[in-house]
Amino acid sequence: MRFYIETYGCQMNVNESEKMAGLLSNAGHVYTERMKDADLILVNTCTVRQKSAEKVYGFIGRTLALRRINPSLRLGVCGCLAEAEGRALLRRKGVDFVFGTRAYPAIPEMLERVRRSERFVERGDFLAQENACSPIRRFSSHHAWVTIIYGCDKFCSYCIVPYTRGREKSREFSDVCAEVESLAKLGYREITFLGQNVDSYGKDLRENSVGFADLLSFAAKVKGIERIWFLTSYPSDFTQGAIDAIANHPNIARAIHLPLQSGSDSILKKMNRRYSRAEFIDLTERIRKAIPEAALSTDLIVGFPGESEEDFERSVDLVETVGFERLNLAMYSPREGTLSQQTLPDDIPYSVKNKRLQFLLNLQKRINKALNTASLGKTQWVIAEKPTKPGSPQLYGRTDRNRIVIFEGDADLIGKWVEVSIKKVTAGPLYGDISNIRD
Ligand code: SF4
Repeated sequence: MRFYIETYGCQMNVNESEKMAGLLSNAGHVYTERMKDADLILVNTCTVRQKSAEKVYGFIGRTLALRRINPSLRLGVCGCLAEAEGRALLRRKGVDFVFGTRAYPAIPEMLERVRRSERFVERGDFLAQENACSPIRRFSSHHAWVTIIYGCDKFCSYCIVPYTRGREKSREFSDVCAEVESLAKLGYREITFLGQNVDSYGKDLRENSVGFADLLSFAAKVKGIERIWFLTSYPSDFTQGAIDAIANHPNIARAIHLPLQSGSDSILKKMNRRYSRAEFIDLTERIRKAIPEAALSTDLIVGFPGESEEDFERSVDLVETVGFERLNLAMYSPREGTLSQQTLPDDIPYSVKNKRLQFLLNLQKRINKALNTASLGKTQWVIAEKPTKPGSPQLYGRTDRNRIVIFEGDADLIGKWVEVSIKKVTAGPLYGDISNIRD
């Protein structure tokens, strides 16, 4: 069968799509980048916001036209929306099978059921079938996603993830280490450790003797691994050991993303975030002391139920106090099935939410412009990632502090270290010309 995968949402989904592509290719199916050539379409979904779910419904609708041309086309829906909606998704026109967030390792077996014309929802946990030898069809030739922990135990009151992805489950330490070593042998020079909460890594493993800091230190010493990123952290689980591991290994990127969500203690409590404003500040100070060059970024939600003007100002104050280099901003919207949706009225008017969002967006632009201006006339080393858009002569890469740099260059530079002289800055990317190349 020729298969196509459409992926929505986070990097965990991207990595799981790569794994499904590897398993299907290994079973003799053929991957295609053109949806119209496929006999099987998998759509890997997200449900973190209502908008994400609507995108998926729209996509399912678009596949109906393809089915008229190719009646043997089959459509499978997986990921968080599939876990949350199950049978309701299967009832949608054009959907042949639905499977949950822990079922993807069984995709070849599920395909056999589809071939027998079975229509089904599969919510089993097949993660134990995965190991360091599982085939993965990576979509990049130099950068690899490495999932280290599944699920989340935190139950933030606004978040659907613990219900769609289940409880935390760490991969075996030896398994992750073997994957990193094999990636280095295959020529991957850059990896990103993934998990809803990477800092929780190892807590559920036998004897509880290894943690995220051990993984970072291990990977940093693997010959050939030149840069390591990780996503996502939970502030109160971020250990001094992890800070020290980053400080001691220059090939761990100097970009640390710490989701704050709110700078007000009363809102943090309603969000069921398990740290206080003071503890968060203490963490950032310890990071800055050990790694002065670290760039800190964060996530913030504006307009959470009950967020007063004073609460919002506490968030603004914390953004300025810490000096975050990047903010991922979201306006609160209740997500069906979460605690906040069930127990807290969505009482902040849209106009107020929007005003607060715009205020932070402008603050972020001012901070970024000032930081980027300091790079003007200097050089930055990046790994060339890909064209800014298909067919563009411009490539982009990231600095160790996760700043985007755009420059003109041929596609054969992708995966190489490139030094760029910065000629122009904006509140977003830096622009420049190549001054040096390193293989
Ligand atoms: S830490 Fe909170 S926001 Fe993050 S995935 Fe877990 S429950 Fe959701």
